[in-house]
Amino acid sequence: MKKFFVIGNKVSKSLSPTIFNYWFKKHNIDAHYGHLELNDKNFESKIKELLTKKDLAGLNITIPFKQKIMRHIIDFDQHARKINAVNCVSIKKKTKGFNTDWEGYYKTLPRMKNIKNKKIIILGYGGAALAIHYLLKTKGCNNITVFNRTKKKLKFIKNTRFTESIKDLDKYLSTADIIINTTPKNLINSKKIKMIKKTTLLSDIVYNPKETDFLSSFKENKKIYGISMLIEQAALSFKIWLGFKPSVDKKLVKILDRIIT
Ligand code: NAP
Repeated sequence: MKKFFVIGNKVSKSLSPTIFNYWFKKHNIDAHYGHLELNDKNFESKIKELLTKKDLAGLNITIPFKQKIMRHIIDFDQHARKINAVNCVSIKKKTKGFNTDWEGYYKTLPRMKNIKNKKIIILGYGGAALAIHYLLKTKGCNNITVFNRTKKKLKFIKNTRFTESIKDLDKYLSTADIIINTTPKNLINSKKIKMIKKTTLLSDIVYNPKETDFLSSFKENKKIYGISMLIEQAALSFKIWLGFKPSVDKKLVKILDRIIT
């Protein structure tokens, strides 16, 4: 039986085992997906031990080890290298690291004409925001504003502004086409909410609860829920490991919705 794990700091409540074990059962695959909670102290020794296991076929990596894992991997796909973060590892003759967050996020966006010209705000600039920023730059977006409370060096500088001052955002809110939240908080107060157009697309990548504080502050706008990115990036990992993309059926979405609402 092939073994897969998600590894990270607080993964005991991760939805990934539910998603992958559902797909394994549905497609009659002799495999099991579990979780492994690691911390800064035991990460190195536990990873070395895990990578010697003969039945290990793949790993997903989550906060805060998406960069740390890279020193244990031999080969990388070009996107993981550019983003400098790995959330999926395939284990065959050699280990190969991938990043499926950026493309998984892309699949959640409605197919829009001229995404290049959309005015986009990204709230937060941690690991996931960086993958989303990479995606938007890859698609040629040339009007992005990133807000982060702590000063950060932007990785993809061209046509992106950075601000540490939430007040500075005011001048971009009223014209924004897409606002993407990647922080655990709602940084948009009621005064700012009023500045935002009803047609602005709101996206939160945090998925538990489904209706986050950020999304729930908006009544009329179109919303993209974080759970859709989780499922899409998982489906891409599945394809890397097993060669085909599993279908995202209503039953799975229902099971997940029941857990996070
Ligand atoms: P991360 O690297 O730890 O980054 C967290 C970001 O949130 C940083 O920019 C941080 O700002 C900001 N932040 C944290 N607390 C804040 C606060 N109180 N006020 C303002 N900003 C705050 O985490 P990540 O990997 O990017 O993940 C971010 C979230 O997305 C997590 O909840 C994760 O579970 C979720 N996620 C979802 C998916 C999915 O598939 N849906 C995929 C990846 C991640 P500082 O730099 O100032 O600390």
